[in-house]
Amino acid sequence: MPTVAFIGLGNMGGPMAKNLLNNGWAVTAFDLSESALSDAVGAGAVAAPSATDAASGADVVFSMLPAGKHVKSVMLGDTGVFSHLPKGTLVLDASTIDAATARELHVAARDSGIDFMDTPVSGGVAAAQAGTLAFMCGGTAEAFLRAKDVLKAMGNEEKIFHAGPDGAGQVAKAANNMLLAIHMIGTCEALAIGAANGLDPSVQSAIMKASSGNNWSLQVYNPWPGVMDGAPAGNDYKPGFMVDLMAKDLGLAIELAEQSSVDADFGRRASEVYQSLQAAGLGRDDFSIVMQSLVKSDGA
Ligand code: NAD
Repeated sequence: MPTVAFIGLGNMGGPMAKNLLNNGWAVTAFDLSESALSDAVGAGAVAAPSATDAASGADVVFSMLPAGKHVKSVMLGDTGVFSHLPKGTLVLDASTIDAATARELHVAARDSGIDFMDTPVSGGVAAAQAGTLAFMCGGTAEAFLRAKDVLKAMGNEEKIFHAGPDGAGQVAKAANNMLLAIHMIGTCEALAIGAANGLDPSVQSAIMKASSGNNWSLQVYNPWPGVMDGAPAGNDYKPGFMVDLMAKDLGLAIELAEQSSVDADFGRRASEVYQSLQAAGLGRDDFSIVMQSLVKSDGA
């Protein structure tokens, strides 16, 4: 049975590792969090005492970590995963990180003879659980062909894209999440206006879904509590996708926009909204909690 070393078993990595197990892969797992690790063991993974131990003997190494600094600390240096793997091993990092760090990882991987790809995902926890994630991959065409096999066990085959060369997956992901933040805020504002004027948010959501305002936040992540079963709004805005992670992603998108001389004004404004939610102590809540701040301030 082919083995995946899975590093980072949080809100996303946990269910992704379970889908690998359900699709016939063996999983050796490592996470700094004991509870995350024991959940994975409960699903059939074998716990390892470190990332390098998990990676030892694995056919593919997969990471799903918070940010670039975590991925670097796991992959690089004398104790890092890259320096302990046989040449030709496939390493896929699905964390959302800055494109510059992803490119740095590609260079280090090449120096160690490792086949590396940046493979960030979209779809959120629900898609991670359902095995229907989208993957956007940066790196060589050869690595992409190899990666597809394992990615299919966690994602929807039609949504596995070769975005382009080193770091291209992270560029696509930063741009996508900037758009997600903007349409989530817009969706919340539209629902708040409707509710403040007597509309039932369920009815208004159905209208907008059938109209030109339709978007992903309305389709699968409705931010008004109780409108959609399973959405974080109905679970006291427990993540889901944390405000802290969205604020991080907006920082990445704005950095990229500045480096590329693109004036991403709405992205900057969305970033300010998410930073103010962080300042209000809501960093660990779901990013759709922006709804609550609008309703509170309006008294709707
Ligand atoms: P999370 O915080 O729930 O999980 C991250 C896990 O990494 C935690 O269990 C943590 O203990 C572990 N970790 C941190 N440093 C580690 C290290 N050095 N070694 C081993 N384990 C370590 O985050 P998440 O929501 O699962 O997100 C993971 C990544 O996926 C992030 O980059 C995020 O931006 C991205 N992402 C998240 C979503 C979402 O909806 N949650 C959607 C798409 C992409």
